Amino acid sequence: ESFDDSGLPSVVLNCCKTFSKPSPIQAHAWPFLLDGRDFIGIAATGSGKTLAYGVPALMHILRKVNNKNSKKAVPRCLVLAPTRELAQQIAGVLRDAGSPCDIKLVCLYGGMSKGPQISSTKAGVDIVIGTPGRLKDLIEMGVCCLKEVSFVVLDEADRMLDMGFEPEVRSILSQTSSVRQIVMFSATWPLAVHQLAQEFMDTNTVKVV
Ligand code: AMP
Repeated sequence: ESFDDSGLPSVVLNCCKTFSKPSPIQAHAWPFLLDGRDFIGIAATGSGKTLAYGVPALMHILRKVNNKNSKKAVPRCLVLAPTRELAQQIAGVLRDAGSPCDIKLVCLYGGMSKGPQISSTKAGVDIVIGTPGRLKDLIEMGVCCLKEVSFVVLDEADRMLDMGFEPEVRSILSQTSSVRQIVMFSATWPLAVHQLAQEFMDTNTVKVV
């Protein structure tokens, strides 16, 4: 129930040093996600959900990078969000959390020119945060390759589907590694979200909170 109990390296927990203890959703999610399992959180903004998946995402990348020893970063973690505002907010949190670990990220969203997003992506990133439409465009352009992505987050899944992004979400998910962990956060639990979870997530290991 404390950060000391988590067993996580201090470089990863740096981002939590202003907090007294993990939030309930973090305390629920971390053991499962660190164990490689899928996780569904029915939680609203303000619950600390970004670090509930963000801290395990950093650990996932650090483990992979240690094993591979590759020079240029390739995306290993993907966070899909419905809106530019949410994507930028997530990117801010993960940038602060990940920079002490030398983890690089890019935030891809519509409504601005693709040029800077393309060059940042091509420079090599560990984490891609994006809205479905722009991300799908950049995948089709060959700028962003998700085949090494083995940690996927669907943030505000209900809103993403409400906004009509289901085809993009499905297409994007199908391009990630077949050996992957999926985290889903949703404020509500409508049938469409339930079906998406059933189709893509490991129903034997998923934990729902
Ligand atoms: P989120 O739900 O991720 O948008 O986070 C909402 C707010 O909770 C943000 O301002 C975070 O900085 C804060 N927060 C995240 N984790 C904790 C924690 N363990 N204790 C207190 N506040 C937290």
